[in-house]
Amino acid sequence: MPANIIRLTGALLADPAAGIFAPFDLQLEDDRIEGIYPAGSLKGKAQGQEMDLSGCILAPGLTDLHVHLREPGGEENETIHCGLKAAAAGGFTAICTMPNSLRTADHPDVLRYIKDKAAALNLADILPIAAITKGLAGQEFTDMAALKEAGAVAFSDDGMPVTHSGIMEEALIRAKALGLAIIDHCEDLALKKDGLMHEGAISRQLGLPGISAVSEAVPIARNILLAQKTGGRMHIAHLSTREGVALMAFARSQGITVTAEAMPHHIRLTDRELLGFNTMAKVSPPLRGEEHRQAVAGGVKSGLLTCLATDHAPWSLAAKAKPFAQAPNGISGLETALAVAWDTLVVKEDMAPLDLLARFIVGPAQVLGRKPAALAAGEPANLVAIDPLLKKTVEPDHFYSMGKNTPFAGMTLQGWPVLTIYRGRVVMEKGRVID
Ligand SMILES: [Zn+2]
Repeated sequence: MPANIIRLTGALLADPAAGIFAPFDLQLEDDRIEGIYPAGSLKGKAQGQEMDLSGCILAPGLTDLHVHLREPGGEENETIHCGLKAAAAGGFTAICTMPNSLRTADHPDVLRYIKDKAAALNLADILPIAAITKGLAGQEFTDMAALKEAGAVAFSDDGMPVTHSGIMEEALIRAKALGLAIIDHCEDLALKKDGLMHEGAISRQLGLPGISAVSEAVPIARNILLAQKTGGRMHIAHLSTREGVALMAFARSQGITVTAEAMPHHIRLTDRELLGFNTMAKVSPPLRGEEHRQAVAGGVKSGLLTCLATDHAPWSLAAKAKPFAQAPNGISGLETALAVAWDTLVVKEDMAPLDLLARFIVGPAQVLGRKPAALAAGEPANLVAIDPLLKKTVEPDHFYSMGKNTPFAGMTLQGWPVLTIYRGRVVMEKGRVID
């Protein structure tokens, strides 16, 4: 069979790991990058198919470190298939799934089920994160070696914090022996109590019990110190507070191997979104005050926080229509993540596009202990093209995800993915997923 050739012309190539941000043409052959060529040199050639990407930025496909796909067990809220379509729509060619599906990813069989399904669908890689403890109960360790063998790329009890410090210390030691990171949902439940939103002026105005910033900062501090003691690799999930950012600065100053991710909603929105008891903005950790938003956004810009991830948490509209106290936490984030981050940090705050892309490409690879994706001959043809000037209004009805739950509905954002290529195949073009 003749090779399948695609010529991508006219784009500005962005390779954050290599520090390249310049116009080049790029040729794909089957599922690999065949070569990089001087700008204009592949234009109008007879060989293969040409895609004109003039005005676009072409980068390695994005990786999302933090995704909840609900399957197995919660298929009424999201299936692996719909989640992968949402990933392709959002420019992601790899997503890391959290283990708190209804059937917990604490056994190799669950990981194999997820990986087999993803391989058959062929829309993006799923890199499963396995549970630290059985049933996320925080007591009995999973068989981490067997889970790694079955494809686990990291360990987390996300959705639940690891409350027992001794278990966390031992988890770091065990994961270190396997060369993998521990990812912790940092929330001190004794401090959170029955909190429903960020503790501050807005929670007092609404009369809702608050969740203090300290309830996040205390376990972050503990985790930093345990990482220092054990030499294990600790990654802080969905960091949302000014205190958390300050603790990360301390860890960096001490050379401790701790990384952290921020979520697009935490760098864009504040607890003001909760006015009117808007359940679409109910998320864990909660949207916080402006001083926290600025600190987290600043941490992403400076590189203190090396990752942006979605915490994609799809829910049915019926679930979100419940009264505020009963409505589930979560935002359907895969399809808006890049645009929210681009509009917030690149358009409004002058962050360099290459730095922003590094948070979606280089940072996640470092957490997973992998070489970051690159634009070079022989590399996998996993790519995203971004139109940095395209303005679009968020319309959740058009999401591929089953979760239409988003606080961004109706917001016009600038900077959208317009093409996703996975293993040499176009899986999204101009917002339309090709299944
Ligand atoms: Zn979490």
